[in-house]
Amino acid sequence: MQRRSTKSVTMGDVKIGGQAPVSVQSMTNTDTRNVTETVAQIKELEDAGCELIRVAIPDHEAATKVDQIKAQIDIPLIADIHFDHHLALEVLERGIDGLRINPGNIGGEKNVKEVAEKALAKDVPIRVGVNGGSLEKELLEKYGHPTAEAMVESALNNIKLLEKYNFDDIVISLKASEVPMTLKAYQLMAEEVDYPFHVGITEAGTVKSGTIKSAVGIGSILAQGLGDTIRVSLTGNPVEEIRVVYEILKSLNLRDKGVKIISCPTCGRCEIDLVEIANQVEEEISDINKSIEVAIMGCVVNGPGEAREADIGIAGGKNEGLIFKDGESLRKVASDELVAELVDEIKEL
Ligand code: SF4
Repeated sequence: MQRRSTKSVTMGDVKIGGQAPVSVQSMTNTDTRNVTETVAQIKELEDAGCELIRVAIPDHEAATKVDQIKAQIDIPLIADIHFDHHLALEVLERGIDGLRINPGNIGGEKNVKEVAEKALAKDVPIRVGVNGGSLEKELLEKYGHPTAEAMVESALNNIKLLEKYNFDDIVISLKASEVPMTLKAYQLMAEEVDYPFHVGITEAGTVKSGTIKSAVGIGSILAQGLGDTIRVSLTGNPVEEIRVVYEILKSLNLRDKGVKIISCPTCGRCEIDLVEIANQVEEEISDINKSIEVAIMGCVVNGPGEAREADIGIAGGKNEGLIFKDGESLRKVASDELVAELVDEIKEL
């Protein structure tokens, strides 16, 4: 798919926009003041494939911890700051790689100027993060309630404030918990500016429902070529967010990471326990980082076709399966040996 052409912004060593691969980010849910716990969670997220990490900076003590956190992690660190511009100045002094602020809520132009000038001097990008749930009072009065147009107007006002002080190292996000509104906001914004987009559906829900909502929302936006970095927001362990992000990216052929499994839903023709086989294979290869496709199919109707097209696959028969590799059928294997043989073949690839 054709991606929108944007400026390129660099946070730490990660490029956002300018046709760089769509980058994957998350946010810690630990107390940032607790450096040990925060670093431990970031390391877990790094292992899962997180490429940029954001931490909340609710007060001065949290701001004073960012250099200690940054020293112990390997991915760029972004500070999420509201209301108090002194926190932004503090984290910039301590080597933060990116800021997420809304210039409109840090206390007037004098404060925006101070932050923009310091961020410019330190070469630190700013994400203007508009959220449908915290729009400015004037915009809510003008539009009656949160709308895509209101979010875009808010973002443009915030961007203008930064640009006034020669700051254009900007990433934009326009998040709402409603998918159609979010999609419309990004579409409208794409007509206005060429800054890269951070895409997400905010407050998407629990791991189960939020995964689906995020896949639909982020997937629709990405499918229109509009996203440059993404975050899935789930009420749960943030490591789950990374798993979901990569599944979304893999399904749109946007990033190769890990094995892509193609498996059928089974039906009355299936004569092996395909559900168990597919789940076991997925579990056993979850830490394999090869970019390959594995087809796990129940019978000869669609099985051989899908298995031949994948790097490796099986087509089920009566209590057995036929293994395919690189488009060729290899051998028949009894159903209770299928998982082990399939996993061995995948590891050999
Ligand atoms: S591949 Fe075979 S078992 Fe699987 S859904 Fe299709 S027809 Fe049914």
